Amino acid sequence: MIKRGILTAIFASLLSFGAIETVAQLGRVQQVTGDRFAFSGRTPNGVNIYSVRRPSGAMLAAIDRGFSDLFAVSRRNGYNRRLNFADYTVFIANADRTQNSSGGYSPDIAVGAAQYAGTDYDQGGYVYAAGMVISYNPMSFVVAEHTRDFNRVAEVVRFEGEHLVLYHNDRRRYQQTADHSRGGGHPILH
Ligand SMILES: [Zn+2]
Repeated sequence: MIKRGILTAIFASLLSFGAIETVAQLGRVQQVTGDRFAFSGRTPNGVNIYSVRRPSGAMLAAIDRGFSDLFAVSRRNGYNRRLNFADYTVFIANADRTQNSSGGYSPDIAVGAAQYAGTDYDQGGYVYAAGMVISYNPMSFVVAEHTRDFNRVAEVVRFEGEHLVLYHNDRRRYQQTADHSRGGGHPILH
């Protein structure tokens, strides 16, 4: 009983430490997307998930696939830090559009234009983004919910993850590639 009490206390303090960070990230992602993330869970490989509604199995499998691709290409580039599924949190938001300007299936999130104001991306104060980094430490990003074309989800996960891996493994290259408004896109790692 005593042993169990101590273990529980340690676990509880770890949990509350994590909870503060989670609340901060949830506040930020709610501000960016205007959504409420009522569901929380994990992918089969252990990625932390917060979503507006229960995500489909195909969505979760695509997220795992994106991270597998990301970790493989990161290792090829000699980046070995933070390559664990459980290190990452993915928020799945409502799509603000499901079609791009040429009519293709493209679930995206509308976010404030910020540094993209006046560029080709600018839609009048906001831009449509397939994904967006929410926090670098702990690591999280948001993607839009998809109901098909799950390869696009895997790709977005891999691409947003590139920014996080670079941040923790190669700060100079991170700085050079973080801002797409000055040109350059994904994939960054080959
Ligand atoms: Zn990017």
